Amino acid sequence: MVNKPIYFDHAATTPLCKEALDKMIPYFTGTFGNANSQHVFGREAVKAVDEARDTIAKIINAKPNEVYFTSGGTEADNWALRGVAHAYKSKGKHLIISPIEHAAMIVTAKALEKEGFEVSFMKVDADGVIDLEHLKSIIREDTIFIGCMLANNEVGTIEPIKEIAEIAHSHGIICFTDAVQAAGVLKTDVKELGVDLMSISGHKIYGPKGIGALYIRNGVKVESILTGGHQERMKRGGTTNVPAIVGFAEAFKIADREREENFKYVSSLRDRFIDRVLSEVPFVKLNGPRQGRLPANADFSFRYIEGESILFSLDLAGIAVSSGSACSSGSLEPSHVLLALGLPEGLAHGSIRFSFGKHNTMEEVDYAVDVIKSSVERLRAMSPLFKAEGEIKNV
Ligand code: PLP
Repeated sequence: MVNKPIYFDHAATTPLCKEALDKMIPYFTGTFGNANSQHVFGREAVKAVDEARDTIAKIINAKPNEVYFTSGGTEADNWALRGVAHAYKSKGKHLIISPIEHAAMIVTAKALEKEGFEVSFMKVDADGVIDLEHLKSIIREDTIFIGCMLANNEVGTIEPIKEIAEIAHSHGIICFTDAVQAAGVLKTDVKELGVDLMSISGHKIYGPKGIGALYIRNGVKVESILTGGHQERMKRGGTTNVPAIVGFAEAFKIADREREENFKYVSSLRDRFIDRVLSEVPFVKLNGPRQGRLPANADFSFRYIEGESILFSLDLAGIAVSSGSACSSGSLEPSHVLLALGLPEGLAHGSIRFSFGKHNTMEEVDYAVDVIKSSVERLRAMSPLFKAEGEIKNV
């Protein structure tokens, strides 16, 4: 057991950075005004929100009036898909998404099916990369929306969004990307990517939880899902979360400034981890591509062992990781992402996601590999399946 637990779950959430916290604090107390109020307190709040919007717009290369604050990535994803579906339903009722989207997209798509929309899923290869030829083949006259994440939260695969957007636009279809895992790590320039809508979230980039944004290109119609007051230019009701918005923008500014440096450092942790696990632990599968994955992500399936058993064993040793995606962990369902990659159910149950951050060290990585080796050996020694297969091999 280590003195202080080691956190390898940055894809689930990240700690708030000190700079963001410092920026936020005044907006809880002294400068607490409602951004809708017509007095000095309100004006101060609006000024802070406007500055934050400008900062985020600049980072993603959008206009400030194309950035809409939401309660996080989930709301932004919901809004993009549901909002476009409802706004363009007279043009068509066919939606296309990838099969490895976050639950915020998959569950929303299923709900829209109940309303009479039809949903088709793109195909991915064994590494989770979108098959562009297949995408072209499933586009129809009535397709109104194509949505795919920029990078996957579970296996870290980076998707060819620019190409997907080109395909969508060549058919006059709106293109959305979920950049929740990619923001602050990869370039999220909406013009370069060519997308019409993009979701981002504060807590994956050392910002606060419960805040995110949806980029909506001017000219694209998106029906509101949160109706109420006049906030967010009449598109999203609800009292503006000023402290969170201020903290989100500050965290994003820092993440963007440190992007290349952190990419290099975090990739070096990941690469050593992957290399050691692959060479020192038998019967293990790296999920997602070796290249072309998020710098923080290493996702493994350990044959003959349930992911949960490894997770608990690592937790006891002071190492915090996740089984499957943070949102689906806790459920006994196999990962929909790993099933889409073609993994058999057994392996799709046994995956563990390690996601590194800028405060992790090489010593922590090495300690984790040592613990994994001994945990896996111990758990396999108790696995009847492992024993049976081992005996077959020995015949
Ligand atoms: N999209 C992706 C790819 C995610 O990884 C997550 C969170 O895990 C979300 C959306 C949801 O974001 P939030 O937690 O801000 O609601």
